[in-house]
Amino acid sequence: MKAVVFPSASQIEIQQVADPRCGEEEVIVEVISTGICGTDIHIYRNEYMSTFPLIPGHEFHGRVVEVGKQVTTLRVGDHVAVDPNLYCGKCSRCRNKQFVQCLNLSVVGVTRDGAFAEYIAVPEKACYALPDGMTNQQAAFVEPLACVVYAMQRLRVYPASRVLIVGAGPMGLLLTQTLRHNGASFIAVTEKQPQRLQLALEMGANAIVSADAEQDQHLAEVSADGFDLVIDATGVPSVIAKSFDYLKAGGQFLQFGVAPMGAKIEIEPYKIFRYDWTILGSFALSYTFQPAIDWLASGAVDVSKLVSHTVPMSQFSEAFNLFSAGQTLKVHIDLQAS
Ligand SMILES: [Zn+2]
Ligand SMILES: [Zn+2]
Repeated sequence: MKAVVFPSASQIEIQQVADPRCGEEEVIVEVISTGICGTDIHIYRNEYMSTFPLIPGHEFHGRVVEVGKQVTTLRVGDHVAVDPNLYCGKCSRCRNKQFVQCLNLSVVGVTRDGAFAEYIAVPEKACYALPDGMTNQQAAFVEPLACVVYAMQRLRVYPASRVLIVGAGPMGLLLTQTLRHNGASFIAVTEKQPQRLQLALEMGANAIVSADAEQDQHLAEVSADGFDLVIDATGVPSVIAKSFDYLKAGGQFLQFGVAPMGAKIEIEPYKIFRYDWTILGSFALSYTFQPAIDWLASGAVDVSKLVSHTVPMSQFSEAFNLFSAGQTLKVHIDLQAS
């Protein structure tokens, strides 16, 4: 089969590789489409937990074309989204229900081969059947939305919270929509790109603020005392450091964006103490695929405007470079097109 391979850091090739073999508790999925994610950029730059060579791709869906001997819940032809995070279920963290912190965590497209490929073998237990009528765009958004659902479970969104979302890429825009459903009274979004800010407004933001030299002044105008929740959806260390300036006393800061491994910021511990701040992380997802599917199927979360490019595997490099340069929203690779 054909697959996108990162042979080593900062290299992309489309290669002919061996077809995956189906284990007894696995299924073979013929991939329909896979989203490019900011995490893929970190992997490509060797600033994440991956090793090379690697077939990337962790945001995907497809059709089951083969089932292993022990598989009982799936059949050939089923349309599935696949949770890329594979938990052992046996370690001390799994037994404490901290599944995504599994000591033996394996992640499809990150620590094992992923879905920028025509076929993939995955465990039955990682597959979620999708309802009829779910579009390919929606189906490829189950994984990123499941990360947002997990973030919502990590945060305590008190009724009528005032929220600041830093960054209006696809994830910032999903966060905007879900916080609207989760009881925020006021959502401000900061971002450099005017088109993205406009989308944030359409998706439920009350105020949009350009991330420029006047950002502080404009944010003070819309929320003089700061925000109950500040969420970083950029992963950019200097932006993250600055975000604490907007946190109210008693506020929660959520690190949602992926910063490069090893990057550091300065923070004043006295302020964490003095203002009763809570600083949270949210890594990937943990059994949040089903709520994400339900949110998409009901139409409560709309992803139709979040995909700017859908291209065949042959155009992966060009699309990846555009995405890395911030010149796209979500990019989907159509693995069925040639
Ligand atoms: Zn992702
Ligand atoms: Zn485990």
